[in-house]
Amino acid sequence: LPEADPDLAPRNTSATRLASAPTAVSLERVNKWYGAFHVLRDVDLTVRKGERIVICGPSGSGKSTLIRCINRLEEHQAGRIVVDGIELTNDLKRIDEIRREVGMVFQHFNLFPHLTVLENCTLAPIWVKKMPKAEAEAIAMRYLTRVKIPNQAHKYPGQLSGGQQQRVAIARSLCMAPKIMLFDEPTSALDPEMVKEVLDTMVGLADEGMTMLCVTHEMGFARQVADRVIFMDEGQIVESNTPDAFFRAPQHERTRLFLSQIL
Ligand code: ADP
Ligand code: MG
Repeated sequence: LPEADPDLAPRNTSATRLASAPTAVSLERVNKWYGAFHVLRDVDLTVRKGERIVICGPSGSGKSTLIRCINRLEEHQAGRIVVDGIELTNDLKRIDEIRREVGMVFQHFNLFPHLTVLENCTLAPIWVKKMPKAEAEAIAMRYLTRVKIPNQAHKYPGQLSGGQQQRVAIARSLCMAPKIMLFDEPTSALDPEMVKEVLDTMVGLADEGMTMLCVTHEMGFARQVADRVIFMDEGQIVESNTPDAFFRAPQHERTRLFLSQIL
């Protein structure tokens, strides 16, 4: 038999791939308020292991708050959030456990400016995982090579382009061997010519089977890798569908309006 051409293989065999996958994250009737402001309203979401979800929606709709609740950067006030079988409560030990398993990449990179690229990558493995320095450095170099910047390892973040800094941020997360990766608009602070290098890194992660929740308005990325696209508005998940159905036949007027503005 001829070997299958990987470029021609469909990425989205979601239905078969995910059918028997265990649950990675579940949110049940999650509600959150900032003071009197009701920011998340009865959010229900089940993410399967290996699933790639793109979250989009207007500014202020609660996208960042939603993903920040998943690693407890924000606290929800009602409902249940379970990550890899661990329920998020006030138990600090469990929060630590979850933060080790969940990597997060922010819009503004959030690298430590006074540490080199390599030190940014080894800090958490050494201090949180108690990994020997040499081992942490070897792992960091492996991930810096994967994001194609091994030669920047001894520079400081300020000496790198935005796209390079964001790839360092991704490599830094991967050094903790996360089971789930959260991305909050990872390309929206970048100059246009740097967006692709970051998206390519994310596509690579998706191809390796990482469970990913990505807040992004990069709809090409959504079409290419998402198993599901979720549209949020005013703190609610308004729509959740395969990328094909989402773009071809959005169900709600609010989704249609949003897509007409960004596409
Ligand atoms: P998105 O990421 O979709 O733009 P956010 O989750 O950042 O939305 O914010 C949702 C709403 O909550 C916005 O109206 C925002 O102003 C408000 N908000 C976000 N963070 C806070 C906070 N720490 N305190 C009070 N209000 C907040
Ligand atoms: Mg946001």
